[in-house]
Order: sequence, then C-alpha cells, then structure tokens
Amino acid sequence: MATTLIAGLDAALAARRTAGLDRRRTAIASPQGPRVIVDGRELIAFASNDYLGLANDAAVVAAARDAASRWGVGAGASPLVCGHFTPHEALEAELAAWVAPCAGARALTFSTGYLANLAILSALAGRRDAIFADKLNHACLNDGALLARAHFSRYPHRDVAALERALAASQAPLKIIATDAVFSMDGDLAPLPRLLELADAHDAWLVVDDAHGFGVLGEGRGTLAHFGLASQRLIYMGTLGKAAGVAGAFVAAHPSLIETLLQTARPYIYSTAAPPMLAEALRVALAIIRDDGGRRARLMDLIAQFRQGARDLPWRLLPSATAIQPLIVGDSGATMGLADALRERGFWVPAIRPPTVPQRTARLRVSLSAAHTTEDVAALLGALHSIAAKAAHT
Ligand code: PMP
Repeated sequence: MATTLIAGLDAALAARRTAGLDRRRTAIASPQGPRVIVDGRELIAFASNDYLGLANDAAVVAAARDAASRWGVGAGASPLVCGHFTPHEALEAELAAWVAPCAGARALTFSTGYLANLAILSALAGRRDAIFADKLNHACLNDGALLARAHFSRYPHRDVAALERALAASQAPLKIIATDAVFSMDGDLAPLPRLLELADAHDAWLVVDDAHGFGVLGEGRGTLAHFGLASQRLIYMGTLGKAAGVAGAFVAAHPSLIETLLQTARPYIYSTAAPPMLAEALRVALAIIRDDGGRRARLMDLIAQFRQGARDLPWRLLPSATAIQPLIVGDSGATMGLADALRERGFWVPAIRPPTVPQRTARLRVSLSAAHTTEDVAALLGALHSIAAKAAHT
C-alpha cells in the first residue's frame, strides 16, 4: 500500500485548492468554434486560439476525412524509423516556401510546438552555451533551455538594452536569443528587428516562437514577414494547432540548421510522428491561410471593434494589435468573479492568474477569431459594460 505517497499528493493538492490555485478543465460537447456546448448550454466563446476559424472549417474537415481513408489514422513510428510520409514531405516544402525565414530555407514538422521548442534549444545548446530569453516567453522555451542545461539568462519584457548588456557580458561560445513573436498572455509583439540586429552584432541565433502570429500577421506568413525580416540566423517556429486549426508545429530555417535538428534533436528523434492525415488537413488549411485574406481582414475588423468598445471599461486593455486582447483586472479573485459573471450571461472568457502571468496582473484573456461575428463582439462588450455598471453600484 502506497498510503504515505498518496497522502503526500493529497496534502499538496489540498494546499493548492486552499491557495485558490487549482485548475479545472471544461469538457466541450461540440466542435471548437465561437459557439460551444458546455453542460448542455451554448456559450459564446472567446477562449480558443482558433484565430481563423479553421478548427471546424468544412474544407479542412473534409481533407482530414479523405486523408484518413487514404492514409489511415496513425503514423506508426517516429519519423526516422518509418513514420515520415509523403504528406509530411509536401507540407514541409509548402511551409518552408510560405514563411521563408531565409533564402533556400527548409522546414521540419513536429507533433506539438512544445516539442519543437525543446528540440531547437536542446539540439543547439549545451552546458557551456548561453540562452537569452524574454521574461514573458512561453513556458516551453524555458523548458527547452532547462533541457539544454545551458546558461539561462532572462531579460525584462522587451528590454533590448538589458539584453544587449547580457550579451556583451557573456563569454559563452554559442549564444541563442529566444523570444515569443506575439506574447501569448499579452498580445504584444517582440521588437524583432532590434533583436535581429543584436543577434547579428553578437553572432547569435535568434529563435522566434510565432505560435500566435503564424497565419494571422504578415498576410498569414507570420511575424517575420510582418517586419520584413529574413536571415540565416533566424530559427522560426510556428504552431499548427492555433490559426492553422489542426495540430502540430514546424521549424523553418537554413537547411544546415534543419538537418542538425533531424540528426540530433532528441524530442524529434524519439517521438512518434504526427499522423499523415493531419499533414493533409494542414495542407488544405495552409492553402486557406495563403489564399483567403478575407478571414484576416474580418479578424482585424473584430479586433478594432473590440478595442473601440472596451476603451471605457474599468479594466485596463493592454496595447495589443493581435487577436489576443487582455483586460487586466489585477486581483485573482476579482478576475475569477468577472469570468463567472460572464459565464452566467452566456460567455466563456478565460481568467488567467499567476503564476501563468506576473503577480497582481490577473486578467481576462479575450481571444478573437475570424469566425466570430460583429454581433458576438457587440454582445460581449454589452455584457462587460453591464457587469462594470453593476459593480459600480454595489
Ligand atoms: N509557444 C507558444 C507561445 C504557445 O502559446 C504555445 C501553446 N500554448 C506553444 C508554444 C506550444 O505549442 P503546442 O500547443 O503546439 O504544443
């Protein structure tokens, strides 16, 4: 009987609950989209990263269905054993040509973005090397640095001067700057042109995690294209489960970098490949990203509508031009209360609390999708204003 072990877990879980830190999943009983069914009730959801409404798009779903008939459902092995299929090959070529971080770039697909970031950092950096990271980077870039066992230096959010000082002070034989392109809980952009200048000046790699920019910014090519950047020292990571609507991720970079990942990155080598049916669904999603600028235009209109309508709410709207529109409440309990009040009115907006975000910056993370309508956004704004008015009178 493992009673002491179990009792240890139960005590730690109870402590989390007491501190108000326990997390819950919500089981959705419908496809992902602006309207979801939860506990038998329809909610208007501003919660997903399905920015272009492709997760339940008819053409992408049909591609997945057809591809399941043609390719089956499982890849069967890791890519270097026998899990790499012609659909992966085609998808990689199309992605590399689309995002083009440098001339002649190649791409490598992964089953998740988390794995892709672990792969990049652990394959490139070792104990003597140094990784420089924005403080607000996504957890998986931090975990990649830990896996690499490299010296890990975090600079304050978007603080280029602090990064420059840290780079200048470092004696590491290999330097890597790693940053989110669009910060996932704030929606703002990394100063990528300045970061690339610093990478040039200090002969460093620049790893750009574009989980929230790929498909959305730069006419769909992502945040590098938004800034007009290309360089052989850029390592571009895009995820395929957000704007692209399916699952997985890719790294696009100089062919020598990609070949290095393929030969040496353990998270790539020792993990089963994503099913080829998903690669086929993604090829159709990529064609929509490429050809249907109307979705991005709709999303941008909705972002403008939300920002205009949220200006005079009592909660601070962060300066974000992306689909991620956070409203800072501050106190965790008050943020939960606001999310609950919205839920009662039929809206699902996630409350994000520390430690995911810094202390005293708990927030509602409103995320918009091209699949929302102007009426959806107007209804959310109406609910937020009515909750604010009620709070002001109590
Ligand atoms: N990077 C960022 C910035 C993310 O927001 C996420 C997902 N939340 C990831 C990486 C991980 O990607 P995936 O979900 O495909 O593992």
